[in-house]
Order: sequence, then structure tokens, then C-alpha cells
Amino acid sequence: MPNAPPPKDKVVLDKPTFCGTITEARVSARERRERKPQPWAVRKLMVLVTLGIMGYTAYVYAGRFAVRLMSGGRRPEGIGLLVGWSILYAWMLWAYIKVILTPPGNARDYVSQSPQPLLPPQQWAPHDAYRNGDGTNSFEFESFDSSLADIQTGRIGGPAYAELPAPPPPAAHGSAPNSNAPHAPNGVSPSNGELPPPATARRPSAGRRHSSRSRRREGGGGGGRPRGRLPPPAPLLPAHRYCTRCSIVKPYRAHHCRVCGTCILKFDHHCPWIGQCVGARNHKFFLAFAYATAIFTIYTFGSLLAFNVRDGGGVGETDVDPQEVVIIALAALFALFTLTLGAEHTRLILLSQTTVESLGIKRVKARDSAGLDAAGLGCWQVGAKRRALASYDAEWGAPDTEGNVWWAGSARAGWEDAMGRGGRGGLGWVFPIGAPLGDGLHYVPNPRFAPDGRPRRRAEWPEELR
Ligand SMILES: [Zn+2]
Ligand SMILES: [Zn+2]
Repeated sequence: MPNAPPPKDKVVLDKPTFCGTITEARVSARERRERKPQPWAVRKLMVLVTLGIMGYTAYVYAGRFAVRLMSGGRRPEGIGLLVGWSILYAWMLWAYIKVILTPPGNARDYVSQSPQPLLPPQQWAPHDAYRNGDGTNSFEFESFDSSLADIQTGRIGGPAYAELPAPPPPAAHGSAPNSNAPHAPNGVSPSNGELPPPATARRPSAGRRHSSRSRRREGGGGGGRPRGRLPPPAPLLPAHRYCTRCSIVKPYRAHHCRVCGTCILKFDHHCPWIGQCVGARNHKFFLAFAYATAIFTIYTFGSLLAFNVRDGGGVGETDVDPQEVVIIALAALFALFTLTLGAEHTRLILLSQTTVESLGIKRVKARDSAGLDAAGLGCWQVGAKRRALASYDAEWGAPDTEGNVWWAGSARAGWEDAMGRGGRGGLGWVFPIGAPLGDGLHYVPNPRFAPDGRPRRRAEWPEELR
């Protein structure tokens, strides 16, 4: 089988028109822009900006504020404030240097290039509630090109609301639910990375990406009774994990970063502030930096504001130093930002989710709620909604944990995978020391999912997990 890249959607005009030519040029320019990774220097520019902000903060706090306090007859107070501030500043700088110097983990360093694997035929027979209407039985999951879709749309598991298959007949799926044992009808193990092309094997096509969006618009499916939850499948088969840009089968949870132009292990997001991605290897340092910055900015904001309010700009002066006002505003802004960031990432790590993966789960919840609204449940019917959601959870499991294909089984397991064991007194969970427990390459999918990544109803779960 030839392994040419799948044809991409292209704007083709029957008759060239003025507006059409402009549109075509704009579309191809956008495609070029989106496909090209950012130059290294541009990516790292924000690191210089960040260091610049830190340097300016030091100048204003130590060089202006503290000096003025000390020279104005408040030496002990000035020294005390400055010592505390310097410790927090050093902590933040240390965490920052650690996170910008620790690579997130580049998938290409661990996986060699290979041709695109093919999908075994009839992998997932869809339950065709509202399919294309042409009688095709190709589950839309096939059209998911994760290397194109995952960053911008946040879709982790293919089309979020593609119709799910009905409970599979026991002969096809029920034999070994809790193992990576051969599952596909042709006896090919989905976990071994290579799928020999059967006679009717198909390549995942890049087309029809629009159809999941049009389905999403259908929301809960109109009035009447709620249609129930449609959890998204997860791309576990090698054919679904193939990155056409890097020409590799991505390890579990790796995604392609468009900015860096490469696949990142356990990709969380691309962070402009650190000039690189947050991934398996540096997520813990990213969180340590968020913690340190939150505490540092709160200290800076609090002490500057308190002394300025009390003294009206400093000892013996009536005017407020405008440079201190700038730092007060910046500190407030970054305190809010890093507090939110730190809290959110703590929550995600405890739930064994990356930012990308959490978007898929959020979408499940949003759709649940849209479906209930569409079914006529008003916002005041809190109890009825709660009961409906509980019935969905009873059928599919709680979205954040049981319905999360990467749920590590416990909050602690998820935390240690990203944050390490913490060392003595858990210092490694707060300070930028130690290493994560997970290597970013090996993850065991939630056994509640089928080996190919299809979410299963509770009744189909391994018995001990129901
Ligand atoms: Zn890639
Ligand atoms: Zn990146």
C-alpha cells in the first residue's frame, strides 16, 4: 500500500473570480501560517519579556521602595520586608529557570518514524442515529486527524459527540474487557503499534471534519426527552494516534504543538511565558513556578499597597511613586493569573487530566447540560437535572474520573505521575526539585474503556470496577 499523506481539504474554484481568488489566497496563507512552527527566536522572546518584568520589579521594590523606607528612618522595617521579598524572589526565579530549561519531552526522541498505520475494517460499527444518510458505516472517528485538530479545538478523543455504538454484541467485544488482548475482529492487537493492512483496511481520512461540528450544534437533540450522554471515544489505536507532520505514531497522551512544530509527550499546552510547551517532563516545574509566583506577587502587592496607603507614597513624601503603582498593578494582575493557574493545574493533575484532555471532558458536561435544556428542563429544575446527570453517571461513569480514559485510579496516582513522590516532607511538590514519576511514554488506559478507546457503559466494565 502506498503511504502518501491523505488529501487535505482544498479550496477549488470552478471559475476564478476576483473575490474567489482573494479568498483562496487568504485561505492558503492561513494554512501556511498554521502549518509553520514559530521561529525559535520568536518563541523565546517572551522569556526575555518575562525576565524583563522580573528585573523591573526588583528595581522598583528593592531599589526604590525598600531604599526609601530605610533612608526614611524605617531601617528595621525596610530590611525585614526586603529579606522576605528576596527569598520569595529567589524562589520564583529558581522555579522559572527550572521550567524554561527543562524540556517537556519530545516524542520524536523516543519514537521512530513510520508509515501511517491503517485502520482495521469495521472497527466500530456506529449506531446511526443521524449519520450522513448515504448508508456508509464508517464511524466518524476515522476522520479525526489529531495532528491537525487537537491543539486548536482541544479535541482529545476524536469527534466529541459522534454517535456512539450501541452496546456491542458479546462475541465481538465482551470476551476480554480488561486486557489489551487482541480485540479487533481480525485478531490484531491494537497495542502493538503496527496493524497489518487487511484487504479492506482504510486509512483515517482527513475530510468531513465539519460534520462533528454540525452534530454538536444539534446539541441535546431537540425537545422531548433528553437523549442521554454521548461520551467521546479516545484515540487509542495507532492509526488514530498518527501524526502526519512528525510521521510517528504518537505515544499515548502526546499531541502535536503547532507552535513548536513537534509532538510533545503528555502535552498540556504551549505556554508563551516559558517559550515552550508544558508536557510530561516539566509540568511539575510549571506548577512550582505558578505557586512561587502567586506567593511572590501577593507579598509584593500586599507590602507595597499597605505602605503606600499608610504613608501616602513613603516616609516624608506626599506623592505616590508612579513606578510603585505600576508594580502594584502588575503584581495584582499576575497574582490573579497565577493563583487561578495554580489552582486549576492542581485540580487537573489530581484528576489525571491535561488541559487538552480536560477540554474534551468539559464538552461532555456542556453537552449534558445543553441536552437537558433542549429537553425542556428549565434552570429552576435543579433537582430534576441533578437526577438526570446522576443517571448518566450511573450509565457511563463520572466524566472526570471513570469517564476519563487516562484516570490513574486515584488522585494520588495522578498527582505522583506528574509531580513525583515529593521526597522528604513533600518538598518536591512545592519546590522545583525532583522529577515526575511518569516518563510520559507509558500510560495504562482506563480499563473502563474498550482497548480501542471506545467508552463503554458501566454494564460492560470489568466486574470489579462496576
Ligand atoms: Zn507531531
Ligand atoms: Zn509548544
